[in-house]
Amino acid sequence: MALQNTVKRPCPFCSQFSSFEHVTEQLTQWSCPRCGDYQMTGTAEASLYHLMISNAGPISGRIRALNSQGITPSVSSENYEAMLRLVAPPFSQRAEIYLRTVVALCPRLDQDFVPNSDLLIGASYSRDNAEASVILEYLEQKGFIRTDPLLDGEDNYVVPHLGE
Ligand SMILES: [Zn+2]
Repeated sequence: MALQNTVKRPCPFCSQFSSFEHVTEQLTQWSCPRCGDYQMTGTAEASLYHLMISNAGPISGRIRALNSQGITPSVSSENYEAMLRLVAPPFSQRAEIYLRTVVALCPRLDQDFVPNSDLLIGASYSRDNAEASVILEYLEQKGFIRTDPLLDGEDNYVVPHLGE
């Protein structure tokens, strides 16, 4: 969801600068480049800022998964502690989600993409770029993703054609 006329604030989960606007006095709408879209009450936001979360990967991934189903979760003082107890799914599932997200980003098979963007870090339940790099490397070794020698720069990864 693209927010208009918004200010940017650090996401209370992952600290990435995010679009933020008030829905009501007590409820805010967030659009985080890593976690995706969610709503949050002021009390939950205050509690989460106080906690300084060090591993938001499972939360980012869960919110992204809900967003992909068309759901914008609402975070409140009733459920934020449960969100802190979320764990990431098994590695193979995270790799599959990473690949599915890349495919969704690249409608054409020869289209390149930026590896380990905030979207890919969040969607794959990764804590940071270093963790997402492990998934990218695995997908490269398995042949699901490869670098394109004809393209320069860091964003020269493509999903190869089947049978290539
Ligand atoms: Zn976030």
